[in-house]
Amino acid sequence: MRLGFIGLGQMGAAIAANLVGTGHELRVWNRSPDKAAALVAGGATLAKSPRDAATGAEVVLTMLADDAALSAVLDGDEGLYAGLAPGALHISLSTIAVATADCVAAGHGSRNQAFLSAPVFGRPAAAAAAKLFIVAGGDEASYRRALPLFAQIGQASFHAGATPSSANLIKLCGNFMILATIEMLAEAMTLAAKGGVGKEKFLEVMTGTLFGSPLVRTYGAILAAGEYRPAGFAAPLGLKDMRLVAQAAEGERVPMPFLNVLRDHLLQTIATEGGDVDWSAIALSVARNSGLER
Ligand code: NAP
Repeated sequence: MRLGFIGLGQMGAAIAANLVGTGHELRVWNRSPDKAAALVAGGATLAKSPRDAATGAEVVLTMLADDAALSAVLDGDEGLYAGLAPGALHISLSTIAVATADCVAAGHGSRNQAFLSAPVFGRPAAAAAAKLFIVAGGDEASYRRALPLFAQIGQASFHAGATPSSANLIKLCGNFMILATIEMLAEAMTLAAKGGVGKEKFLEVMTGTLFGSPLVRTYGAILAAGEYRPAGFAAPLGLKDMRLVAQAAEGERVPMPFLNVLRDHLLQTIATEGGDVDWSAIALSVARNSGLER
């Protein structure tokens, strides 16, 4: 397949690495071109612009930081919209607002281009291991077209529905649940630790009894080790996601009081630790509030 891939950050580079050298013709573009070096060495071609990456491609995947980054890549004479042929498919893997996904769907629709909004669950290590979970919204035919690619980059995919942004709503709800789980773990582990129970012992009991989910195991290990740098998922991107959850909740008139607690802990963590920590470093703020760590 002739593929374009735009956005080679932590997630994008790891995902694209699972597509290069597998029989596809892959053209890549990143705002900072140095990040394309390893992929080019592996057989990808460096495109001059998003338009260039999309020209002649059957499918273009994008994995960009946020809504503004996606717009920057789509619009203008050198943008993806300008390069993608009618009938060709854009798969957006980024975590973006529901309203933005609706706009992008309309933008592609008016150009007779196909669009799937397909945000993912899984950190960079899962992306590198092709173990992502992909939640895709868009018409059934586009979803079926994307399935062979999803099989190359993930362990499972789900069709959210015919409306692309339905996938973004699911993803945002999921990220709210992930951060809520981190907060829950941080509070419980802080209490256990302050009372003299080791974090590893606490986790051993919880994951061995009622909380044996992959999420509790992954984040429990990060919290027990206290390793928040380098960030797998940077705290400012997590803050962006909580903002998008709040926007969606406001639009649907859904009060989410706990969301405000999570958002404030993220903000406190970024203010005191800087923007280069993992979002799970909210556990540091929880521990400090208890006097456990200075
Ligand atoms: P990242 O490492 O910060 O990469 C961000 C990418 O966006 C880079 O390629 C960056 O280009 C590009 N970018 C940012 N602003 C841009 C602009 N104005 N114009 C063009 N390109 C721009 O972030 P990431 O961790 O890969 O996350 C990417 C997306 O995946 C986000 O939506 C995030 O919420 C989502 N996600 C992340 C994780 C995770 O664990 N990390 C898991 C699931 C989903 P440069 O290289 O030039 O800066």
